[in-house]
Amino acid sequence: MSSGVGSDFKELVRARTDIAQLVGERVALQSRRGGRELIGLCPFHDDHNPSLRVDADRQSYKCWACGEGGDCFAFVQKIENVGFYEALELLATRAGLEMPRRSGSDGRGGDAQGSDGRPTRKELFDVLKWAENEFYTCLKTSTEASAAREYLKSRNFSPETIEKFRLGYAPLDGQFLQRRGRDRFKPAQLAAVRLISQRAEGDGFYEYFRGRVVFPIRDASARTVAFGGRVVPGIGSPDAPKYLNSADSPLFAKNKTVFALDVARLGITQRAACVVMEGYADCIMAHQFGVHHAVATLGTALTENHVGVLKRFTRKVVLVFDGDQAGRDAAEKSLPRFLSQDVDLRILTLTTEKDPADFLTANGAGAFNELLESAPEAWEYKLRLSIERHGLASVDARERVVAEMLELFRQAPRFGGSARENIVLNRLAFRVGLAESRIREMLAASRRKAAPQATVVRKTQIPNSNPGDNLSSQSPTVSNCPSSASSKTGPTTARGKLERELLECVISDPAAVSAVQEVVATEDFSDEAHRRLLALCYRVADAGMSPSYENLIAATEEPDLKSLLVTLEATARAKTQTLELDGPQAARAARQGLLATSLRLWKRRIDVHAASMGRLQSQSDSPGTLDAAQLDHLRRAMEIHGERARANTTT
Ligand SMILES: [Zn+2]
Repeated sequence: MSSGVGSDFKELVRARTDIAQLVGERVALQSRRGGRELIGLCPFHDDHNPSLRVDADRQSYKCWACGEGGDCFAFVQKIENVGFYEALELLATRAGLEMPRRSGSDGRGGDAQGSDGRPTRKELFDVLKWAENEFYTCLKTSTEASAAREYLKSRNFSPETIEKFRLGYAPLDGQFLQRRGRDRFKPAQLAAVRLISQRAEGDGFYEYFRGRVVFPIRDASARTVAFGGRVVPGIGSPDAPKYLNSADSPLFAKNKTVFALDVARLGITQRAACVVMEGYADCIMAHQFGVHHAVATLGTALTENHVGVLKRFTRKVVLVFDGDQAGRDAAEKSLPRFLSQDVDLRILTLTTEKDPADFLTANGAGAFNELLESAPEAWEYKLRLSIERHGLASVDARERVVAEMLELFRQAPRFGGSARENIVLNRLAFRVGLAESRIREMLAASRRKAAPQATVVRKTQIPNSNPGDNLSSQSPTVSNCPSSASSKTGPTTARGKLERELLECVISDPAAVSAVQEVVATEDFSDEAHRRLLALCYRVADAGMSPSYENLIAATEEPDLKSLLVTLEATARAKTQTLELDGPQAARAARQGLLATSLRLWKRRIDVHAASMGRLQSQSDSPGTLDAAQLDHLRRAMEIHGERARANTTT
């Protein structure tokens, strides 16, 4: 499989891409070993401890929990869910490089969506970037945008903020983008990013944003993926919804996107916390007031998907709700969902009748930061509400408070029996002045009462027993879970391990390839991924190059091979690192010893295999009984295994 783009260009893009920066856009990375190795939470599985390693020297990444790994291209392929060509195109754009035309094609992506005539992701990003500019220029210069400019001014948006967030205006006539983009984009491209839509009756398209201030919505890499629009008072139909977001598209999923993450990332890392607002206008205003760790959800409550994105940057998340009754109700309703999240989730409701923008304007950032610091944990928030309602004056009142708390615990998915539950019960007992044993009795009783319902919940996999809350049914971000290819889970057979060791020998000492090539033919390898990697080593060597890690990773476009290569390189390095302690000569001698042992074992294995061929051909998968010859074969295999283990420990 080849992208049809010359390897010189690929290597140029690689050289212009820093993988630490690239991965750092999705995950907060902490440095180790003097900054050459970085660790963070893996974005490809539901990671709780930092399992992802980014190696700045080798420009590779590797998750030791789920097995994902590779170079910058593999990372983009995986995280954007695109083929190699599109990954190259996206990284080239990122590096400010123009894609060369592809050999033997029309210059369009072959392994990407482009091959079937649909626009590629790169094209869609281009459309959105263009539209953002059109809206922005319109707001700044057009006479028809004067009401919008007045509105923003009345809401205290500064010119710097308007420029930083590239706010724009979409005129009311509904033909603006189609007119301006006539020579550049096809309607299908504008429709794919939900800027226009086919009319239900008659020909033509209508534009989604009309007579609205437009807020670009960006992904973590600061690329515009969608827009939000707010009506301008006095413009358009009076019963149009106040806020409107782009519909979901190939680039945009509302319940996963965190607004302003691109500009807040640094602030979040610096403050070791993140503030989540309910709307982009509040969030932008927070930034204008110097609250640089503010982000927002897009007209939805915070979902587990959002939490999955945020927790890769910080463990502390403060949810800000409006001070009115609706805001308080929303806060209380959201509690069960977050009680069991493995983030430190806090709830802040503002003083009466104020949204964050009003609050900041009236009281300034200092007062806001003070509130943030004192925001209670989710369960504590509920406790305060309950105490407000019932007081703590009598045993009866206390038990009523506890009952409300237990109802919350019961609704929280994955909370019962957790370590966190123990801590919270202990603290609750202390706060309300009841014995912890009494609270545990009440909890057990409340669980018994709710047991039949709980079974249904588990069966249907809805992580929340509140059926009215459709947002909680989002599964955590594990959609990119890796497949269980052998290259990820590791070999289970002795033969697979030996194949892997031979590959490690070549990668840690590329000169060893000729010795291996004399003894091992690619088709001798039983594991398909091992076979392909060995073939790659031979191909590179046959072309007169050294099959070093760098040359090998540059010679393939296949993510699974890259992942295997990164794994084997790291394993080989870990093994030889201890050897290096005895000096370079001793290390070389030891490496040669490892190679000789592996090759000797391989030859014996092939002999054993040849001798027993025919008898064992269909044996490997069938679990039937073993005859004497098969037992003898197994014994010999175990001897080989033992010898190899001894060889490994003595060198
Ligand atoms: Zn992982």
